[in-house]
Amino acid sequence: MAERSAPAEGLVVASYGRHCVVETPDGQRRICHPRGKKSQCVVGDRVLWQAPPPGQGDEGTIEKVQPRRNLFYRQDEIRTKSFAANLDQVLILIAAEPVFSESQLARALIAAEAERITPLIALNKSDLVEPFARAWERLLPYRHMAGSEGPDSRHYGVLPLSLAQSGEVDRAALMRHLRGKTTLVLGPSGSGKSTLINLLVPSAAAQTGEISQALNSGKHTTTSTTWYWVEDGEAGARHTALIDSPGFQEFGLRHLAPTDLARCMPDIGAHASECKFYNCTHLHEPGCAVRPLVESGDGAGSISANRYKIYSELFAELSEAPRY
Ligand code: GDP
Ligand code: ZN
Repeated sequence: MAERSAPAEGLVVASYGRHCVVETPDGQRRICHPRGKKSQCVVGDRVLWQAPPPGQGDEGTIEKVQPRRNLFYRQDEIRTKSFAANLDQVLILIAAEPVFSESQLARALIAAEAERITPLIALNKSDLVEPFARAWERLLPYRHMAGSEGPDSRHYGVLPLSLAQSGEVDRAALMRHLRGKTTLVLGPSGSGKSTLINLLVPSAAAQTGEISQALNSGKHTTTSTTWYWVEDGEAGARHTALIDSPGFQEFGLRHLAPTDLARCMPDIGAHASECKFYNCTHLHEPGCAVRPLVESGDGAGSISANRYKIYSELFAELSEAPRY
């Protein structure tokens, strides 16, 4: 029997059903599958994998998935599924047009906060002057919100962009935030996500082509979540990465308990320690420090009425939903 070689390190750059594409430190990509029936890999996983013995095909086996720093989920009507791991940052790209859903934005932010990642919001299409001004105004609570990692953590940035008009300027601005990090890019369709990926990763089509080739499907395989290396002259290759994933609408929050929510909505969570009851839900209890701060019609209050509405709706949703 042929001797097996020692397991080697690799990075999962795409996953498709039970198969995934693993990239080796020298840039080779090959298709692998996890050894155990139950184990699953997601994009961003660091793994130990092993080549097959000679003559036994060319699919590698993933022997071990290294412990994850964080894990992101998506959900559909039926189930919740993990899709990306080990992220440094989440970039949420919305645009002046089409008008974004604040509730979807809030959900994506909560997913990031749940994994203790301070998100960055970018608002594209600043050239559409009036719609942009309206969208910028709607983002006021977000522009002033500090991340949940304590009083020193930075504010959620909102980066104005006009990707189709001033690509080079925007690229430089984006790179200041992205350099050296692995960033998950999320956004509703039409916001300019493809424009952004193509701007930062001119070889995006070639990189996905390699993945399809590694998957050896013979036809075009669209993986839902894809890792891209950003070509970055100064810092060199394989230093900065973007993970492109559809699924802004169905962001998975069902793994959270309703009582996790306040922590993941920093404008609300910041006041929770002042409530009379330590387990206050901020929905009906006496002595709640949060509710009096919710904006009323007279302009008083520091928590946006929309944000509080999203909080209470999500609280109800997570109380009803089966946990996964
Ligand atoms: P995706 O659906 O998020 O991938 O969005 P696309 O990158 O395909 O862009 C959607 C549309 O918005 C396209 O018609 C783009 O040309 C347009 N678009 C992208 N960036 C800008 C921008 O900065 N300003 C304007 N006015 N249009 C843009
Ligand atoms: Zn309270």
